[in-house]
Amino acid sequence: MNRLINIGTGSGLPQKGKGGPSHLVEVEDNVLLLDCGEGSAGYLRALNRLLSVDWIILTHLHSDHISGLMMFIQSSLLEHRDRLLDIFLPVEGIEPFKIFLNSVYLNQKDLEQESLFIHLKPLTTGIVIETDNMIVHAWSSDHFAHDRLIGRSQRSAYGITIESGNRRLIYTGDISTVGCFVDELRQNCTLLCEAMHIEWDEVNQVVRKRGSKQVIFTHVDPSRSDELKRFCKNKPDLFAATDGMEFLW
Ligand SMILES: [Zn+2]
Ligand SMILES: [Zn+2]
Repeated sequence: MNRLINIGTGSGLPQKGKGGPSHLVEVEDNVLLLDCGEGSAGYLRALNRLLSVDWIILTHLHSDHISGLMMFIQSSLLEHRDRLLDIFLPVEGIEPFKIFLNSVYLNQKDLEQESLFIHLKPLTTGIVIETDNMIVHAWSSDHFAHDRLIGRSQRSAYGITIESGNRRLIYTGDISTVGCFVDELRQNCTLLCEAMHIEWDEVNQVVRKRGSKQVIFTHVDPSRSDELKRFCKNKPDLFAATDGMEFLW
């Protein structure tokens, strides 16, 4: 079985004792980090998994989803990571990220002198990673649909699907409607779904129709987290995630 560990289940509002959005996915010896919110490097260090991450995918550039990245890189340097780390992110972030890394003294040349190789790669729809054990693909999320309407067309957001044999994990990232992920659903799949911008019951209805195995809600507004727990109560295939929760998928 493949593993999912919720590293950070917080929302856009920082909360004491709760990390920003970040999820660790393990498929055999492939280790993938989905989003890298505040506090994720510390949590991964505590789990002794910081150095085992092979790839990071940043679904979009809202700061709650990326704010742990600098500390991830700095910790990797201090912990003497000596192999490649691929970081996939929306293309509009690549040049600004390079400049920002330089400004916090994590420039590429210095890192490579320490044998830490960081590759920033554009995230686009289609296959992102393919190994013997898994295929990871990205799909367009409608998180910025409203921004596109008002002319902020350069913003992009993606959802991520990981397939391993006949198993499938779908991570919505941030979305606006269930319509953007419904085609990704399969029988027995696991859905890791943000709970801030959508109707929970609409998600519940749609996954039931598709015969999904389980829904893990994350990224809930702090003022509604008790409400989400109540919503999931007595529904054995719905979960309100908290930091450190683990699931097999
Ligand atoms: Zn968010
Ligand atoms: Zn967002």
